[in-house]
Amino acid sequence: MRLILFGPPGAGKGTQAKLMIEAFGLPHISTGDILRSEVKNNTELGKKAKAYMESGKLVPDTLVTEMVKSRLSSSDVKNGFILDGFPRTEGQARSLDNILPGGIDRAIYLETSEDVVVQRLTGRRVCPKCGTNYHLKNMPPKKDMICDQCQVGLYQRPDDNEATVKNRLHVYLQESEGVLGYYRVQGKLENVSGDLDSKDVFSVIQKIISSLK
Ligand code: ADP
Ligand code: ADP
Ligand code: ZN
Repeated sequence: MRLILFGPPGAGKGTQAKLMIEAFGLPHISTGDILRSEVKNNTELGKKAKAYMESGKLVPDTLVTEMVKSRLSSSDVKNGFILDGFPRTEGQARSLDNILPGGIDRAIYLETSEDVVVQRLTGRRVCPKCGTNYHLKNMPPKKDMICDQCQVGLYQRPDDNEATVKNRLHVYLQESEGVLGYYRVQGKLENVSGDLDSKDVFSVIQKIISSLK
């Protein structure tokens, strides 16, 4: 199964991907996670991507597409995957169809209102070790600011500040219709409300996946 999770920053893509990995065992490919690790390791790609990410702009299509192409050539994705955070532009969606003969099975669109995503992004806290996303109010860890699994301190992503969040939402609004339209005409778009509780979003996704089997 080749699935895409699409939606504004803060819609809950990473959170749903984690539930989907546990339930279906599909590999999770998050372009944001890969880029953050490139920046952390100060690679050539990381050096090029850093300033874009810090200001909330998109990293250029050519760089991100090459990165995804290389990841999709690994043997662990032969039986399917969950792509989270890619494609983000219509150009990236076209490139993905060129990389993958037959294209994807479904693009799951987590349609989420703006006030909800702003509240989610500003309260998001992340485990530096396992990458689990928590939220100060919505999904707090058991111990204050400590990951439930790893027992290490959580951090706030540098791009989850108010000014950068505003920029990311602006970029999303500019690019999203192109991506949605691209999959809509292919009959592959599934709308799911991202405003719901995480478990309710997940049960809608489970129904979509069962219908594909
Ligand atoms: P979120 O989970 O909040 O939507 P991501 O972790 O997916 O954010 O992405 C963080 C940043 O990484 C983006 O703001 C952008 O700069 C860069 N990025 C991630 N995926 C892509 C992509 N497909 N195309 C261009 N830039 C990307
Ligand atoms: P994305 O990957 O789309 O940027 P995340 O999965 O990181 O989004 O979720 C953003 C923030 O919102 C996180 O702090 C997460 O704990 C919280 N969150 C995710 N899904 C929900 C939900 N359905 N209801 C409330 N909070 C949520
Ligand atoms: Zn952890």
